[in-house]
Amino acid sequence: MKLYNTMTRKKEDFKPLSPGEVKMYSCGPTVYNYFHIGNARPFIIFDILRRYFEYRGNKVTFVQNFTDVDDKIIKRAKAENISEKEVAERFINEYFKDAEALNIRKATYHPRVTEHIPEIIDIIKRLEANGLIYMLDGDVYYDTAKFEQYGRLGKQNLEELEAGARVELAEGKRSVNDFVLWKKQKPGEPAWESPWGMGRPGWHIECSAMSMKYLGETIDIHSGGLDLIFPHHENEIAQSEGATGKEFARYWLHNGFLNVNNEKMSKSLNNFFTVRDIAQHFDLEVLRMFMLSAHYRSPINFSDDLLEQTKNGLERLYNAKNNMLYLLESAVEKEVSPEEQELIKRLGEHKNKFIEAMDDDLNTADALAAIYDLVRDVNGSLKPEVSKATVQASLDMLMELSGVLGLLSKKEESLDTEIEALIEERQKARKEKNWALSDKIRDDLKAQGIVLEDTPSGVKWKRV
Ligand code: AMP
Ligand code: ZN
Repeated sequence: MKLYNTMTRKKEDFKPLSPGEVKMYSCGPTVYNYFHIGNARPFIIFDILRRYFEYRGNKVTFVQNFTDVDDKIIKRAKAENISEKEVAERFINEYFKDAEALNIRKATYHPRVTEHIPEIIDIIKRLEANGLIYMLDGDVYYDTAKFEQYGRLGKQNLEELEAGARVELAEGKRSVNDFVLWKKQKPGEPAWESPWGMGRPGWHIECSAMSMKYLGETIDIHSGGLDLIFPHHENEIAQSEGATGKEFARYWLHNGFLNVNNEKMSKSLNNFFTVRDIAQHFDLEVLRMFMLSAHYRSPINFSDDLLEQTKNGLERLYNAKNNMLYLLESAVEKEVSPEEQELIKRLGEHKNKFIEAMDDDLNTADALAAIYDLVRDVNGSLKPEVSKATVQASLDMLMELSGVLGLLSKKEESLDTEIEALIEERQKARKEKNWALSDKIRDDLKAQGIVLEDTPSGVKWKRV
């Protein structure tokens, strides 16, 4: 498999340090709010990378942290007059709800900063022993000029910064790049004891500490959004390698931004939709598929229209799946015809195309295209008199490939939450013997091309 490594700015052959075992770390959310669909992009992409490694027979240890102490969390706790811990607990729970609805699997470990203070202190002590820190007004800083390779990952950003920022250098700070490792306690803020006084960790140090604890001093893949290259990941390298003297991560992967009107979706620009907002209008599987429709390193522009289009595409896949399930019921067990054997051979070719695409730096757009090709091929080839084995082989292949992308996992067709809600409302009206309302809902749906069928096992609907 080839992966684009931000460190070398090249696509490289990916080979894990121990063959068959992949160790990956992805920077997770700061839990002070629901996550927005820009944040969802790396969560979905790296979930797929992990699934794909497993699909190809690797054992994957995947760590994604929660930043559960931070200025924004403290601010929210103050505003709501509750503890920081309560804010974090709440949004960690909400994270898991949204992640599940997006079919993002749980990581092997989801460590939290506040549970790793000793590990964090330990790294800062090692940096101190290596002469890489200094104190400034009670805060502990990293002395970046002493770490020779500083800037290796985020070269360009570094040069721009240095050109523009000289004047802004705070008093006592040795370089604009120096960053805080341990912050002196401020009144009313959470704090822990440390050799440098009561305080809390800076942002970057947490990822070095948690990555090392769960994955060892050198890991295979470290990932996150493009905005984390500099300074966050640069600083993680300085901290980790400054402490251990060993390479921290061998491959650095970064996803492009999800934009709105060509601007990065972010909380600060207030141009964001949370995953919850989208769930009001679309099944979240549509959002998941939307993220796969572009290469993960390209920017992706978000719009309702694109989601609508994606929804239609996903419906096509579900229709194909449902047709195959239907055929499976009526198909008989008999010898596979030569024509069917040809189809079964082509299923293997579609799979090869899928793998080729995924092997090429996780090209999910082409991988999806391979699934569409498979569906088109199967739709055109399966006749009513087909053998059961052929339908089963086709269905299995569709489910195998979709499963790698985390798609088509739903048992029932339920892509339209609005339609489902209307049907439910109609059921309620019927129970209450409000026939006028129940008929009206049926007619409204019919006007949208949705036909209802009352069956003993409940209401079924289809588009006509
Ligand atoms: P945060 O909670 O802001 O630290 O972000 C969590 C993850 O989402 C990080 O990997 C970010 O790089 C990523 N991220 C934030 N905004 C976007 C966006 N608009 N598009 C893609 N990724 C993003
Ligand atoms: Zn991180």
